[in-house]
Amino acid sequence: MGASFDQIGALDALLELILETTSDADGANPNEKEDGETLASREAVVRRRALRVVNDLFDGDAQGRALVDGAINVLDTRRLYRVVTQPSARSFVAVDPGFAAAAKRYVCFDDFCSCPGFAQVAADADGPILCKHMLAARLAPLVLNTFETKYISDAQYHEAISCRYDPL
Ligand SMILES: [Zn+2]
Repeated sequence: MGASFDQIGALDALLELILETTSDADGANPNEKEDGETLASREAVVRRRALRVVNDLFDGDAQGRALVDGAINVLDTRRLYRVVTQPSARSFVAVDPGFAAAAKRYVCFDDFCSCPGFAQVAADADGPILCKHMLAARLAPLVLNTFETKYISDAQYHEAISCRYDPL
C-alpha cells in the first residue's frame, strides 16, 4: 500500500481520461455503425491503456509492484460489481469471494476499503491510501469483460456493506 496522494490523484485522472478518449473506437469511422468487432477492439484498447497506466504509476518500487500484482490477482480471483442503492444512489464496489471460498466480501469506496489491511495501514497513514481491492475496483470497469451494476434498496445498504458475505 505504498501509494501516495499524488499517485492516487494521477491514477483517477488518467483512468477517467482513458474512458473519455476511448469512447469512440480508435481510427474508426464515427459514421459507421459499431459492430461487435469494433466494440471488442475498443475494449482491448481501454484494457491495455488502463494496465499501462497502473504499471507506469506504481512500478517504481517493490510496494507499488506488490499493489499492482495484488490488484490483478483480485480481478482474476474475485467477483467485482458496483452496487447502487435506490433511491439515494449511494454506491460502492463489492469484492465478493469468487473462487476463494473462505474469503469475505469487502466493500470499496474511492477512499475506503473494509479489508483488514486497509485498517492497519490507515491507522498510521497521514494521507489517502490505496489497497489492492481499491485499485482493483478502479480498474474493474475498464479491464473486466463484464462489470455489472446491481441495484438494492436503501434499507439493504447497511447489511450489504457489512463484511458478512450474502449473495446479492
Ligand atoms: Zn482492501
